[in-house]
Order: sequence, then C-alpha cells, then structure tokens
Amino acid sequence: MSAKPNIAINGAGPVGALLALMLAKRGYAIDLFESRPDSRQTNIYQGKSINLALSDRGWKALNAVGIDQEIRDNAIPMYRRVMHDLAGNLTTQPYGQEGQAIWSVSRSGINEQLITLAEQQDKVRVHFSHRLTQYNFDNNTALYLNDANQQINHQTDIMFGADGAFSKVRRLMQELPKQRISYSLQYMPTSYIELSIPAGENGEHQLDKNALHIWPRKDFMLIALSNPDGSFTCTLFMDLEGPLSFSSLQDKSQVSDFFHQYFADAMGLLENPVEQFMAKAAAPLCLVHIYPWVVNDAVALIGDAAHAMVPFYGQGMNCGFEDCRVLAELVDQYEDNWPEILAAYQLERKENGDAIIELAKRNFTEMSDKAGDANFLLRKKIEAE
Ligand code: FAD
Repeated sequence: MSAKPNIAINGAGPVGALLALMLAKRGYAIDLFESRPDSRQTNIYQGKSINLALSDRGWKALNAVGIDQEIRDNAIPMYRRVMHDLAGNLTTQPYGQEGQAIWSVSRSGINEQLITLAEQQDKVRVHFSHRLTQYNFDNNTALYLNDANQQINHQTDIMFGADGAFSKVRRLMQELPKQRISYSLQYMPTSYIELSIPAGENGEHQLDKNALHIWPRKDFMLIALSNPDGSFTCTLFMDLEGPLSFSSLQDKSQVSDFFHQYFADAMGLLENPVEQFMAKAAAPLCLVHIYPWVVNDAVALIGDAAHAMVPFYGQGMNCGFEDCRVLAELVDQYEDNWPEILAAYQLERKENGDAIIELAKRNFTEMSDKAGDANFLLRKKIEAE
C-alpha cells in the first residue's frame, strides 16, 4: 500500500460526505459513491425531509474541519423544549445555561451542503446513482450498478461503509466465510410519519421557532422543529401495532378524532394532518449492533451503518459526525498507518456507539412521558434551583 492509499466511501449521507471532506483535507484521494441521484438536481427530497437536532458532539466535528459557521448559517437554535399538554397549556424547559442550544437543521439541507463542500476539494470525486451490489474483499474491488444498469468495478485500498442503517457493506461483510461477526438489528415497536406546519401568511413561524415542540402523550408523541422558511417539520411517533397505533387508525374519521383528541392545539396549524396520515406509510425505527466494525484492515463501518439508533436522543447523525472527527484525529496520530488507525478507531468508537444507542432507547420515555409529567417537571425544577 502506498503512503496515501486511495479511499472509497459508500454512501453520501451526512456522515459519508463529512468523512470525504475530512480525509480529502488530509490529502487522500476519495471516491464517494451514492445510490441515489444528486438531490440538488432532482428534488428527490421534496416534501419528505426530516429535521435533525445538531448538538455539541456534531458541532465539534464540523468545527474540526472548519465548516461550522457555514452550517450554522442555515440552522436555527433551539434554546428550550416546549411541551404542549392535552388542554394546549405550554411548559418550557431550557436545554442548558443561558445561550446554550441544540440546533434545528434539515437533513437534506445539511447533506447537500456537506456534499457541495466535499466536492469543492480537488481530491473528491462523487459518483451519484451508483449502487453497491458486491464487494470482493480479497482485492478490495467494489461492484456498482449505475442508473443505466451498467456494472462498474472500482478498485480501492480502503473502503468505508457509510451507507446507513441497512448498510450493504455491512451485509457483505457478514457473508464473509471466515469472519466471526456478531450482529443484531432490532426493530422498535415505534414507527413514524412526517407532517408539517406551514409558515403563516407573512412567512412567519406559527410557534416559537427557537424551541423544540413536543406533544407528549405517553405511548406516542408529536414533535416539531423549525425551518428557516417559517415552516415546521413535525414527526408523529407511535407504535405500528396495538390498541392505539398506526394500524388501529384505519379511516379518516378515526384519524380525525385522534388528532382532535390528542393534538387539539396543533390541529389549526398542521397541514392536512388527516390526509397526510392516511397517505403515508409509517417508517420503521431500528437499532443496530455489530462487531467488528473493521475487516481485513481495509473495510470499515461508520455512522448508522455501524450503530443505527432510535432518534429520541437526537444523536444518530451527531454520533456519526463524532466517528469522523475521532477517525481524522487517529489519521493524524498514526500518520497513514491504516491498520493501526482502523484498529484504534474501532476500539474507541464501538463502546461509545453502544452507550449512545442505549441512552437513545431510554430517552423515548423521557420525551413522550416524563417531559409532560407534572411531578417530573417539579422535580427537575427543584433540582435546578
Ligand atoms: P444515512 O443518512 O442513512 O445515509 C446513507 C447513505 O447511503 C444514503 O444516502 C443512501 O442512499 C446511501 N446508500 C445506501 N445503500 C447504498 C448502496 N448499496 N450503494 C450506495 N449508496 C448507498 N440524528 C441526530 O443527530 N439528531 C436528530 O435529531 C435526529 N433525528 C432523527 C429523526 C428521525 C425521524 C430519524 C429517522 C433519524 C434521526 N436522526 C437524528 C438520525 C440521523 O438521521 C442518522 O443518524 C443519519 O442520517 C445517519 O447518517 P449516515 O450518513 O450514517 O446514514
């Protein structure tokens, strides 16, 4: 292997794009492959983009590569969470000390911004509409299928699987005969759909834009995060099956009763919630545990591919960004010795990934139940005083 090996990254989600940028800045030639077309040209996200909370862990990684201010220009600080009870009363809890915040960013927006920043590096080549189908681990050759159904071979030295919760790189790793790979993918009972609150008549936000809004209803909840255009992206989390669930609400009148009963104060704001609910398939949430993250000193997992988690702690992308930052620091420390870099990366990140997966799982109860519990709120207030 030459001093600066060629690196391929499968998956140009937020984590793959940031990784490409970080490694290119360290002089590596990067081929970044993405199965989807370029969303900046095709609008594939229109009407279905989620919002993410970007917090300290993520900012630290963006700061390390010098792009935090550019990302912040399109982000909105959320200094507090605002709980909406059944009667429409509001309770506020700050997210930290004066001035501290988590930040609302659109997933598609930050993803596109990171791809653009990566592309501006001479050493990054982005290949859209390239879907990984096979990988030869003996000679590190990936097989891609492009949108014209052509097969393309790409030989590399190092390959990162940054291809998300259902990672193809991970699945191919698992098929290796001599590897002992421990793996679990656990679907949660909770699923989600996206809804939206449009901007008011004059383009204004119809709720406090500097807050993360939560309608906690114990077994399910609605949340809303603001967008710069005056709208809010909302997510309804609820069990897929059960007495009150996505499956139990079958017709329009049931859905309408459900929204009026549980989210009365949001009803005047949400854009066609009943029609949206009926039209959308609830998306799954899952947890992924896998070990090892690295095989043959050459193929490694990063981001959701290594540690998909539920979104209730707002840390999935943040944790993936932290993977990138730690990896880049190890590249500096081990000076291009990739077997050492990857071994140290796995050692440092696996334990932390597992810890955050567990914290995220537990935080569903905190958000959907305790956040709206009067005794819990009182206890928090006393603790703070
Ligand atoms: P992904 O975003 O999944 O990107 C993977 C990329 O790989 C995709 O572009 C995909 O098209 C591509 N790909 C897949 N297969 C192939 C293939 N075979 N060949 C080539 N390319 C391929 N995180 C937070 O930090 N804060 C939050 O507030 C937050 N809220 C969330 C809310 C919801 C409802 C959900 C579902 C998630 C939330 N997350 C949040 C988690 C966050 O979205 C993920 O952790 C993050 O997107 C992971 O980034 P990634 O780049 O690792 O994977």
